[in-house]
Amino acid sequence: MRLGLSQLPLPFGHSSIDDDTKAESRVNGRFAPPGSTRPATCAATPGGVIIRRPMALTQADLLALADRTFIKNYRQQPMVLAHGRGSEVWDLEGKRYLDMTAGIAVNCLGHAHPAFVERLRAQLGRLIHVSNLYWNDQEILAAQAITERSFADRVFFCNSGGEANEAALKLARRYQQVVAGQPARTTIISTTGSFHGRTVATVSVTGQAKYRDGFGPMFGPVEFVPFGDLAAASAAIARPEACAMIVEPIQAEGGLIVPPDGYLRGLRAACDAAGVVLIFDEVQTGTGRTGRWWGHDHEGVAPDVMTLAKGLGGGVPIGCLAVTERAAAGLTTPTGGAVPHASTFGGNPFATAAAAAVIEILEADDLIGAAARQGEHLGGKLAELVAKLPGRALEARGRGLLRGLAVAGNPSAILGRCRELGLLASLAGANVIRFAPAYLVSTGELDEAVAILARALEEAP
Ligand code: PLP
Repeated sequence: MRLGLSQLPLPFGHSSIDDDTKAESRVNGRFAPPGSTRPATCAATPGGVIIRRPMALTQADLLALADRTFIKNYRQQPMVLAHGRGSEVWDLEGKRYLDMTAGIAVNCLGHAHPAFVERLRAQLGRLIHVSNLYWNDQEILAAQAITERSFADRVFFCNSGGEANEAALKLARRYQQVVAGQPARTTIISTTGSFHGRTVATVSVTGQAKYRDGFGPMFGPVEFVPFGDLAAASAAIARPEACAMIVEPIQAEGGLIVPPDGYLRGLRAACDAAGVVLIFDEVQTGTGRTGRWWGHDHEGVAPDVMTLAKGLGGGVPIGCLAVTERAAAGLTTPTGGAVPHASTFGGNPFATAAAAAVIEILEADDLIGAAARQGEHLGGKLAELVAKLPGRALEARGRGLLRGLAVAGNPSAILGRCRELGLLASLAGANVIRFAPAYLVSTGELDEAVAILARALEEAP
């Protein structure tokens, strides 16, 4: 079946989005911080401020169409999300969900944040894309915003976390070969249980075999050491073939595992002693998610290379490699030589405008402080569940607003029940229900989400 434009759903009254966004902006210029009441316009209708229009295609029609047109690599739930506001989203049938997934730790400003939307809309009207044959103002401002708030001296922009890690691995290899004069240093050290992306090189350094199965031969050599085991990592780093160590400050997809205190500091010391490049994969932990700008800030230590994505764009795809002056030499073009690494869309003015806006709004509204405070509250509520539901709720984990609850039983069934009850959360590791909401999530929303999870756990067979 071919669809004409007239058959496509026009679910929302766009004029009402505009009017209400403006009205809300006039009220307070942005979403209210956690704890304060929302402007009346937000609560006025069951679907937030957005009014649905009759559609040509129903949710069921679209699901049937998706079934015929997509490669079946994902296992999407049978729902089509259509619009959102803050920490709430609605599907095409008008069902409201509390969004504790936030695009898997992406939408740090929530959905349809008025100031963010305004900035993006303005940028769309100015310049969407040029190329890296020229500079654009937004990428320069975003680079300044990142370097001013981190250890990094220089950045490279790309489009996703996997690409940022791919670039980090290339930087490390070339740094050893071309800058340090150590061509025998080729081994990448990574940790078991880690997740670094879905490109061939990044699945190769991902410490979970299920992501590599069927895709060999892999990039290598790679040596895996247990996450959190400093002695094992130090021994691998000390070997003469060691090139780089890549590690997440908190293993996120691996099950929200926080390493022991001193682990990152110990890795720093071992890498310094050996001349090995230290890469922190902050794709999930970066940009305020843990209640500080970067996950490594909790240990007061800095890597040579940090990779970012997810929250940095607030929902607009972007990846970033943030590095020291010394490490930057690994990807620097020699005079008259070929460009060693590049990306058509990297530094795209729309994506980098989003990153600059995210950083500005997070700071202006103290949303990283909010992530720390709300994260404490959420961590406390999840710990209460462990005490209240022994044998069902096993362990509360995480930091800031990257939190989870290890559960007994079938986690997919528990997540399914949560969804029926109006809560979206995601699975991390084998059995951890992950909450990674927007930083502006309210205490009431967190309490409602935890109450739904408690009910789903109580009802689980
Ligand atoms: N690194 C970490 C720590 C991640 O959590 C993810 C995604 O979940 C990635 C890398 C890959 O990022 P992307 O899916 O944007 O390629």
